[in-house]
Amino acid sequence: MYATSYHRASSVDEAVSLRGTAEDGKYLAGGMTLISTMKQRLAAPSDLIDLRHISQLAGISVEGRTVRIGAATRHADVASSQAIRAVCPAICDLASHIGDPHVRQMGTIGGSVANNDPAADYPSAVLGLGATVVTNQRSIPADDYFTGLFETALEEREILTAIVFEAPEKAGYAKFANPASRYAMTGVFVAKTAGGVRVAVTGAGAGGVFRHAGMEQALSAQWSPDALNAVAVDPSNLMTDMHADADYRANLIKVMAKRAVAKAG
Ligand SMILES: Cc1cc2nc3c(=O)[nH]c(=O)nc-3n(C[C@H](O)[C@H](O)[C@H](O)COP(=O)(O)OP(=O)(O)OC[C@H]3O[C@@H](n4cnc5c(N)ncnc54)[C@H](O)[C@@H]3O)c2cc1C
Repeated sequence: MYATSYHRASSVDEAVSLRGTAEDGKYLAGGMTLISTMKQRLAAPSDLIDLRHISQLAGISVEGRTVRIGAATRHADVASSQAIRAVCPAICDLASHIGDPHVRQMGTIGGSVANNDPAADYPSAVLGLGATVVTNQRSIPADDYFTGLFETALEEREILTAIVFEAPEKAGYAKFANPASRYAMTGVFVAKTAGGVRVAVTGAGAGGVFRHAGMEQALSAQWSPDALNAVAVDPSNLMTDMHADADYRANLIKVMAKRAVAKAG
């Protein structure tokens, strides 16, 4: 056993201050990654600062076509949100396939996007929608936010407070799920946004989530699964691990992208 102090923060400012005074503090959201990392002794924070009871981080709002999802919103709440479904059903669909019911009842969008697991689903939606990652300090465009495997633009004590995006004209997500965890062995999020077509791939890139320029060009010219037939997917920057090699993932990217476009309609 090792000692860890638990703190329940009631505001973002209080959380930042608690983190500042802790020797080696960590923010806690759903705990779906952090607690298991601690159990495996891969992390041993001196203090856990619980963000789940901070009202500024809670809730979903949809005004016109602008969607704001508070960082502490659980996957189950996104999956079942009628307000989001009315303007962007693809993100409800994505949330409904994360992990299992227990994970969806505990895991949060903020925890997922802050953690930036290379096989997580939400990073592809955030990048694919061209969303803005809002923190207690600034607003970060998705294109600048994801910086590598488990790496983001967040600074040491910075708190992700919300994900904000304009609902796209069309969007779809398809993943080939790991049968044990449901994490994406490859997942592709496609969106036709006001700023153009965006295609984001998770679960496959050696450097984490990434956009695929060739697919974006092909779908800009013609929005249909068949438009992707002639697009080549280069395996050289893709992951090889115990689940699949890079060539297999390259094939999955194409298959999942086609399915995502078909789902988007
Ligand atoms: C069995 C299992 C299956 C899973 N399957 C999937 C899957 O299919 N797809 C998928 O995408 N994910 C999957 N997950 C991950 C899960 O959905 C969570 O999204 C993920 O664990 C992180 O969210 P959390 O709220 O639990 O964060 P935590 O575990 O509490 O925190 C994760 C990290 O983010 C930091 N953090 C949390 N919130 C903030 C914030 N607001 N600001 C700054 N930093 C913050 C924490 O300090 C910590 O470092 C799975 C997890 C498990 C255990």
